[in-house]
Amino acid sequence: MPLYKSQPLKIYNSLSGEKETFTPIHEGNVGMYVCGPTVYSNVHLGNVRTFMSFDVIFRYFLHLDYKVRYVRNITDVGHIVDDEDEGEDKIAKKARLEQLEPMEVVQRYTVDFHEILKAFNFLPPSIEPTATGHMIEQIEIIKTIIANGIGYEANGSVYFDVVKFNKTNHYGKLSGRNIEDMLTNTRDLDGQSDKRNPQDFALWKKAEAQHIMRWPSPWSDGFPGWHLECTAMSTKYLGNHFDIHGGGMDLKFPHHECEIAQNEACTGHTPVNYWLHANMLTLNGKKMAKSTGNNILPREILTGENTILSKAFSASVARFFMLQAHYRSILDFSDDAIVAAEKGYKRLMEAVSLLKEITVSAKSTIDISTWKQSCYDAMNDDFNTPILIAQLFEGVKFINLLNDGKESLTAVDLEIFDKAMNAFIYDVLGLENEKVANENSDKLEGTVNMLIEMRKQARDNKNFALSDQIRDQLVTLGIQLKDGKEGTTFSI
Ligand code: AMP
Ligand code: ZN
Repeated sequence: MPLYKSQPLKIYNSLSGEKETFTPIHEGNVGMYVCGPTVYSNVHLGNVRTFMSFDVIFRYFLHLDYKVRYVRNITDVGHIVDDEDEGEDKIAKKARLEQLEPMEVVQRYTVDFHEILKAFNFLPPSIEPTATGHMIEQIEIIKTIIANGIGYEANGSVYFDVVKFNKTNHYGKLSGRNIEDMLTNTRDLDGQSDKRNPQDFALWKKAEAQHIMRWPSPWSDGFPGWHLECTAMSTKYLGNHFDIHGGGMDLKFPHHECEIAQNEACTGHTPVNYWLHANMLTLNGKKMAKSTGNNILPREILTGENTILSKAFSASVARFFMLQAHYRSILDFSDDAIVAAEKGYKRLMEAVSLLKEITVSAKSTIDISTWKQSCYDAMNDDFNTPILIAQLFEGVKFINLLNDGKESLTAVDLEIFDKAMNAFIYDVLGLENEKVANENSDKLEGTVNMLIEMRKQARDNKNFALSDQIRDQLVTLGIQLKDGKEGTTFSI
């Protein structure tokens, strides 16, 4: 029987403002879309926190035996500086400042994003679509919105008529804003804009002559509005009605509100059953952000190269630090806090290593099934990782008592305990045991060095077929050899 049948899950839905029992549209399947990064600079630790929140949610669904299609996009066009409709595209701006092709910017920071996620032990999403790869789909959506009377063209750009939409639908249902407040709070159009109402947002923008990122469309050579890509890519891969949409709290408005409006203007119904929003990582009490410079980079955590840090920390320690807070709570980063997290993480890992050495008894004095269920209860309560970690430390207490012979477990119970500790620590929280990781990397280094030595002997014996075979096969495994004066080295 799949685990999800016995573990009912409650999720806080930003749309209703309540925790709701999770019921997927198709039993046993979960469709989840999460807004990905805008790849115009290195991700900071705040971005990593949001993606980590959804990584753990993805992991938990998998653990519960759901079949999950997890779509996380790459925003490589359309995100305007300051999230406004007027202004420069973030990627185009970076390309101009650094004299690069926009796609060079995109490539550089997409690669960086993937490297960081790998270092922090993220599971890859099922599909990672790009906005530029879905121009046709975006143009088709605009056509439908215009045909349905909610979009209008003005001087080659196309806008979404928020006021007209709001006559039949509710614009503001996710963010709790109402259109009258928005009217009084929005800047006057000053006759500068082609928009009918200040709240209207761009579906398509005509590109100025100097704008390099441009695509042909029925309205002009231009580029899509930022919100459109997520409507296009989520519905393409998950259908017009899907289970979960996630992102950082700061995306609730306008991005997600506009997404809902676009979907409703196309299909007449709301696209998503559960909206999930992850809260911010702050530094010195202020939101970490690329634009303000108030941030710390994930690589700096690994090297310790930031004056805020007293030393380097492993990716697992950073993970542990972030998962000690619930994903809907604000978390402030500080050196003291991550140093404390490191202590906790080490205590957990040491206890888990001891688990292997515990001897079994004829009877159990600990109720392991109740403890295991309490771990599930934590995660079933809106993915409450801090409570889960507290339960894992309850497990640490058990391990120490068992090790001291003060408590006992039968072979069956010990196996249940061992499996549950491992499943929650490694599969669900995505932590890694550094000791094992270091041992494995030592083994890998030893093996490659042995092959380098064998290749040298083959060359000395003029057996070039063999020496080339060793080099080529290592390349197919992603290991490059470099011959130098000092001998041969390798890189992965
Ligand atoms: P961006 O690349 O700016 O579109 O951001 C990527 C993701 O990171 C979005 O889901 C943002 O909501 C999220 N994000 C941005 N800043 C922070 C922060 N300080 N803490 C947590 N998440 C953030
Ligand atoms: Zn999005």
